[in-house]
Amino acid sequence: MKTCTKCGETKERAAFHAHARSPDGLQTWCKACRSAHAKATYDPAKASAYNTAHKDEIRARKHAYLQENREKERERIKRWARANPDKAHAIKRRYAEKHGDRDLLRLKQFVAENPECKNIRRKELRDAYVAYVMTRRSKLLKPEDIPQDLIDLKRQQLKLLRELKEIKHEDR
Ligand SMILES: [Zn+2]
Repeated sequence: MKTCTKCGETKERAAFHAHARSPDGLQTWCKACRSAHAKATYDPAKASAYNTAHKDEIRARKHAYLQENREKERERIKRWARANPDKAHAIKRRYAEKHGDRDLLRLKQFVAENPECKNIRRKELRDAYVAYVMTRRSKLLKPEDIPQDLIDLKRQQLKLLRELKEIKHEDR
């Protein structure tokens, strides 16, 4: 529990945003107070001027964040795409129309230069490949419908099957 220095209410720790440099790791104002204050003092012209003045800095910070949080961001985007399938599909299609040929060429070139990377999803039993295996014969299910724990189970099964195949091969 912690008391907000703005509204004076005592609330759960979850009611405060994190703040790494403060002694207890939390902001002094509660989330509600911070958000109310931000709304009350928000000035679009000022914000836009700030963004223009600090363009490079903002871009660098964003880039650093994305580098540090790749998995987290990927998951966040996946969740969003699942919740907004139509929008996600439209974005994917727009992207494919704009960059499809270029991406395909780059992929072909990359595989030509790195033959060991060919079929790496299959070789390493990555999520996308396992989900594909589970749905390739289904008319109803798409790879993105398969929950992660099922993918993990299926991966174990595929691994075992591969190992069995190896053993049989050695017996011959
Ligand atoms: Zn408060």
